[in-house]
Amino acid sequence: MPGIPKEGYAMSEDRLEEIKGYREAMDGVTDDEADWLISELEQSRDVARRLREIILINNLWHDVPCCLCGYSGSGYYNADKHSCVAEVAAIHKKRMEDKDE
Ligand SMILES: [Zn+2]
Repeated sequence: MPGIPKEGYAMSEDRLEEIKGYREAMDGVTDDEADWLISELEQSRDVARRLREIILINNLWHDVPCCLCGYSGSGYYNADKHSCVAEVAAIHKKRMEDKDE
C-alpha cells in the first residue's frame, strides 16, 4: 500500500497560506467567491485533521504499513523513526494538559 501523504489529510498552514496567495491570480473571481473557496478549504482541512486524530488515537495505524503515511520500515513503533508515533504522543500529551486546566 503506498499510503496517503500527511498533506492529503491535513493541509499544513503553509500550504493554506500559499493557496490564499493565489487570490490575486484568480482573475474574474469576486472577493466573496474567493472567501468562500478559502472557507471550504479550511473546513476540509479541519475535517481531515479530526479524522487523522481519530485514526491516531484509536491506534488504527498499528498494522504495518501505516495507513496514514505508508511507513513500513524498522522502528515502526518508535517516534524517532515513524512520525505518526510522535504525533500520537503529542495528541495524548495535549489531552492530558487540557484535562488539567
Ligand atoms: Zn505513519
